[in-house]
Amino acid sequence: MFRALVLEKEGDAAVARLRELDESALPPGEVTVAVEYSTLNYKDGLALSPNGGGIVRTWPHVAGIDFAGTVEASDDPRYRPGDKVVLTGWRVGEVHWGGYAQKARVRADWLVPLPEGLTTRQAMAVGTAGFTAMLAVMALEEHGLTPDQGEVLVTGASGGVGSVAVAILARLGYQVAAVTGRPETEAYLKGLGAARTVPRAELAETVKRPLESETWAGCVDAVGGAMLARVLGQMKHGGSVAAVGLAGGAALPASVIPFLLRGVNLLGIDSVPVPYERRVRAWGRIVTDLPIEKLEAMVRPAGLADLPELGAAILKGGVQGRVVVDVNG
Ligand code: NDP
Repeated sequence: MFRALVLEKEGDAAVARLRELDESALPPGEVTVAVEYSTLNYKDGLALSPNGGGIVRTWPHVAGIDFAGTVEASDDPRYRPGDKVVLTGWRVGEVHWGGYAQKARVRADWLVPLPEGLTTRQAMAVGTAGFTAMLAVMALEEHGLTPDQGEVLVTGASGGVGSVAVAILARLGYQVAAVTGRPETEAYLKGLGAARTVPRAELAETVKRPLESETWAGCVDAVGGAMLARVLGQMKHGGSVAAVGLAGGAALPASVIPFLLRGVNLLGIDSVPVPYERRVRAWGRIVTDLPIEKLEAMVRPAGLADLPELGAAILKGGVQGRVVVDVNG
């Protein structure tokens, strides 16, 4: 038997309940993992919402888009009992049962070995949000960004993706400007390495002019919507924006002028189906480029029972940093 936060349909709404489940309830898969930690990402907030946020379509369901733990049983030669593993992406927690449980069963292809130098708790302090931030930084570098080119903007900075992006970029020597709608997080963001904060209101409105003064050498954008449109017009010539999220909206009320007159690049980041070698490379970069002490400053510990409330909070932009869920706590 194992404990899980199970989403069950009641009428039109899905309700989350802590349940004891038999191992036979687990879905098929080659590897059974004793989960130690999971996390809370924006997508988990959607999954935990009363209608499954459009990403959960079958009930009962176990949410949790990422987890880290120890292999208990494996039908795949790549993994043996006792191996420490991490999972992000592959629609786990959406279509497949996820990490909000003491056990998970998944395909071996979806796992990566826990990177050397990280505990399972630290891996989940990074989680999907931090892994995605790393992918965004890698994409910017691959498009030529270097620290000497000027300030790099991070939007949604005190959220999960934003916090990790700020810490990694600062560690790599970039001047980071952190956009936040929560002025009270200024000390937190500067502690992570931001050189300055930019009030969300300064970038929240669309403007008629498609180009403004060239300000940012690069950007990790967790917000999308009007803010992304605005930022495109403020990029330096040849600069790149890694579009990660939609915390501020999915519509993009933008003009093509920044692409045509400034050679701006808009790079899409999808952390879900990342090929194995790139996932391992990103986790390796996290070990070297994310200061562990900064990671600890981002963590808010939680248990399975706290998730419904925290899920609602993250959808309102009310969670700072990274929630780490101890599934045995
Ligand atoms: P969080 O809620 O932790 O962070 C989002 C942050 O955005 C908030 O903390 C807030 O930061 C800011 N924000 C919230 N609402 C608004 C708004 N209306 N307008 C402007 N800013 C807002 O979420 P995550 O960091 O986990 O995820 C961020 C985004 O990235 C989400 O949209 C998520 O779906 C997406 N994502 C995408 C992935 C991919 O593979 N592409 C993977 C992981 C996440 P502040 O208070 O500092 O302004």
